[in-house]
Amino acid sequence: MMTEGKPDLLTQRIKQAAEVIAVSSPVIALTGAGISVESGIPDFRGKNGLWSKYDPARYATIDAFLSDPVEVWNMLREMDELVLAAKPNPAHTALGILEKKGFLQHIITQNIDNLHQAGGSLNVIEYHGNCSTLSCLSCNRRYSMEEKRHEYLPTCECGRILKPDIVFFGEGIPEEVLNLSFDIARKARVLLIIGTSAQVSPANTIPVVASKNNARVIEINKEKTWLTEQLTDIFLEGGAGDIVSGLLKEIIKTGA
Ligand code: NAD
Ligand code: ZN
Repeated sequence: MMTEGKPDLLTQRIKQAAEVIAVSSPVIALTGAGISVESGIPDFRGKNGLWSKYDPARYATIDAFLSDPVEVWNMLREMDELVLAAKPNPAHTALGILEKKGFLQHIITQNIDNLHQAGGSLNVIEYHGNCSTLSCLSCNRRYSMEEKRHEYLPTCECGRILKPDIVFFGEGIPEEVLNLSFDIARKARVLLIIGTSAQVSPANTIPVVASKNNARVIEINKEKTWLTEQLTDIFLEGGAGDIVSGLLKEIIKTGA
């Protein structure tokens, strides 16, 4: 990131972001599918791999699940294989370290892959749920994916095909999750946004709430989003793994 001893723009911005984070509290992160791309789970925008086969607009909706759970389970089975094989990448582990060192108070993630927890983070709000448990829409029994994975079509004792505990398009966010996220966003002094296109509502109101309440917004993404021009104070363009690790190094230097 350096050329002949002169820091480039990205290096300068990482330093600037680190200085802001090191002296602010609470600092929170909002993460999206982009943070897990380097762990082998494709995001929705890339439309490669899994999502070229299963268009999320068709397969990730509650209507699709209710009308044809057998078809939607074809997609869920392949997604589960990817999630099961995925390991936290340097972005996840750097966030875990930042939390342990007291520089990051909460993560609100739109991901359902459990990789923040695997990367050492404890304060994780799973806005869209988690695919490691399944529920029955008839009798409310719950199962772990672990115990049901061997079933081609995971089915409840009562006979109904189970649904993973993730929020499909068309479903509401659980109220306590909504309220808690809103509260955390409102109180944040810094919001670190990593790997989200901010197209999915209502998760994309979190940056708006934080910014309106005067949080500094630091955005990490491989490309600009609608947030970049409208809300972002410091844009760090590039892959999440390199940038969050770079940020961690600088914060430790600055905060020491
Ligand atoms: P998205 O697919 O709409 O956008 C991903 C964003 O990440 C894009 O802006 C892209 O430029 C950026 N990106 C891609 N690779 C990156 C990298 N290596 N480093 C930094 N940025 C990178 O994702 P979204 O905004 O999270 O919305 C999609 C919805 O789909 C979410 O609700 C999420 O729950 C769900 N989803 C989850 C997973 C997962 O759990 N890993 C995977 C796919 C989709
Ligand atoms: Zn049941």
